[in-house]
Amino acid sequence: MAKHPVPKKKHSKSRRNTRRAHDALSAPTLATCQECGNKKVPHAVCLECGSYKGRQVVAISD
Ligand SMILES: [Zn+2]
Repeated sequence: MAKHPVPKKKHSKSRRNTRRAHDALSAPTLATCQECGNKKVPHAVCLECGSYKGRQVVAISD
């Protein structure tokens, strides 16, 4: 006998599919940088030019 939790009955395809209804991945949201036009994460400093809201906030090295 199994001593760990094992389902007594096989779940139906409907129940399995219902469980997986929320499994789909969505593409990450991307905003366009006002300074350099590159794609960036919204509400975050641009990784390309170091600007935020049209203002330079991080110095870019290399
Ligand atoms: Zn930028």
